[in-house]
Amino acid sequence: FPLFPALTEALADPDGAGARRPALRFGDRSLTYGELAATAASLAARVGGADRVAVWATPTAETAVAVVAALLAGVPAVPLNPRSGEGELAHILSDSAPSLVLVAPGDELPPVFGPLERVAVDVRAPDRAPPAHGLADPGPEAPAFVVYTSGTTGPPKGAVVPRRAVAATLDALADAWQWTGDDVLVHGLPLFHVHGLILGVLGPLRRGGSLRHLGRFAIEGVTRELGGGATMLFGVPTMYHRIAEALPGDPALVRALAGARLLVSGSAALPVHDHERIAAATGRRVVERYGMTETLMNTSVRVDDASRAGTVGVPLPGVGLRLVEEDGTPIGALDGETVGEIQVSGPNLFTGYLNRPEATAEAFTPDGWFRTGDMAVRDPGGQVRIVGRKATDLIKSGGHKIGAGEIENALLEHPGVREAAVTGEPDDDLGERIVAWIVPADPQDPPSAQELADHVAGRLAPHKRPRVVHHLDALPRNDMGKIMKRALTHG
Ligand code: ATP
Ligand code: MG
Repeated sequence: FPLFPALTEALADPDGAGARRPALRFGDRSLTYGELAATAASLAARVGGADRVAVWATPTAETAVAVVAALLAGVPAVPLNPRSGEGELAHILSDSAPSLVLVAPGDELPPVFGPLERVAVDVRAPDRAPPAHGLADPGPEAPAFVVYTSGTTGPPKGAVVPRRAVAATLDALADAWQWTGDDVLVHGLPLFHVHGLILGVLGPLRRGGSLRHLGRFAIEGVTRELGGGATMLFGVPTMYHRIAEALPGDPALVRALAGARLLVSGSAALPVHDHERIAAATGRRVVERYGMTETLMNTSVRVDDASRAGTVGVPLPGVGLRLVEEDGTPIGALDGETVGEIQVSGPNLFTGYLNRPEATAEAFTPDGWFRTGDMAVRDPGGQVRIVGRKATDLIKSGGHKIGAGEIENALLEHPGVREAAVTGEPDDDLGERIVAWIVPADPQDPPSAQELADHVAGRLAPHKRPRVVHHLDALPRNDMGKIMKRALTHG
C-alpha cells in the first residue's frame, strides 16, 4: 500500500513498535497505526469491489477510517458534507452514483439517500489478523477520490483526484514543511474537503506522524493541543481571525502559538490585518498556501522563509505555475504588478470533472495546463500574490483592473470594520464601480461611507476607494468560511 508506508508496516507487523505509534485522535477516540491499519483493512474487505463509495464525512474517527479503507481497497471515495442541503446532496448522489455509503454507527441519513446501502464503520480494532482479500493497489492513475468543489462560483463539480495527485501533493508539502513522523498536527477542519481530509487527515499519515482533531474548531482546543505537544496547526482564515481577536486577552493562547512549529492557513485569502496581528502577538508568521480541489496544493513557503503577508509563497517543487494574459501570452515579469490568470500543471492535477466533458475540456489549455480562474501577480522574489477570482474579485473600473482583495485588506485595517467584502457593480461612467459590504465592529456606530472611502484612498490609489457601502450583520459564507460573493451581488 504505497500511499502510507507506516500503515503497510503496521499491517505486516501488528506487534511491532511502528504499530504502537499514535495515528489519529478524535475526542476521546485514539487509534494507533496498528489499530488504524486493522480497522481500515477489515472495512476494506467489506467495500472492496465497489465502484465508488460515499462517505458521510462527519468530523469523526469513523470518517478517517472509512477513507483509509477505501484507499486500501482501491475504491474511489466521495466525501459528503453532512451539512449540505437536500438539493445539493441529491445532485452529488445522482452525479457520483455511489454503490454504498459509509456512516458512523447511529448516524441518521436524510431521506434523499433513499434505499442506498449503508455500511456502519466500526473503529474498534478487530481481534486479530484482518482479512487480506479486498486490498488492492489499482495504480497511480486510478481515482482516489471524487471531491466536490466548494460551490463558491456555481454548483459543486466532482473533481476526480487520482492517487498520484494525493501522493505528489503530500510529498511536496512534507518536503516543504519538513513534516516528519514526529509532528503532531491539530485542526478542527471539516472532512468533506481537500483541506481537512486530504491534507489534514492523510497528510500526517504519509510520513508516519499523527493528527489530533478538535471535532469542531475551538480556541480552547487549539491552546490545549499546541500547549500539550502538538507541533502544527491548520486552519481557514475565519479560524485565524478568531485567533487574532482572542490573542490580546489570552496569554495561554499566545504561548501555545509561539511554541508551534508551523501555523498554516489555506482555502481562502488570509486578511493581512489578521496575519499581522498574529505575528505581532506571537512572533510567529502564519504560512499561507494556495490550492484548490482540482489541483490539490500549488504553492507554499518553507517554514523558515520570512513569508510576506499577503503572498501565498512560491510553487511547490514539481508544480508548474504560470501567469497568463487574457490572450494566452505568458507573463514573465516578476514586477508585483502585471495581473494574469494562474495556470497550473504537474502531478498534483485532477483528471477531470465527473460526467462533465465540456467543463473538463474548458478547464484545460491546449497544452494541458489547468486554468484556475484565479488572478495573481508575482513579486520580485517570485512569490505569488493572489488578486482574486477572475469571475468575482476583479473589478474593471475607469480603465483599471482592481483586485477586491487589496481593498478588503485596507478596509479591515479600519477599527470600525469587523468583516469586509468588495464587489463591482455596473456604472455608466466607470464601467464598474467599487462596492464595499461591511460588518461594522459596533453596529450602533458604523463608520460612514465617506470615512471608509477616505481611509481606503489614504492607503491605496484614490481610484480604489469604494463608491457604495452596505452594512450587514454577517457576510454570507459557506461551510469552509468562504465568502459567497454570488449571494451578495444576486441578493
Ligand atoms: P467552486 O469551484 O465550486 O466555485 P471553490 O473554488 O471555492 O468553489 P475550492 O476548490 O474549495 O472551491 O477552492 C479553491 C479556491 O479557493 C481557489 O481557486 C482560490 O480562489 C481560493 N483560495 C484557496 N486558497 C487561497 C489563498 N491562500 N488565497 C486566496 N484564495 C485562495
Ligand atoms: Mg473553484
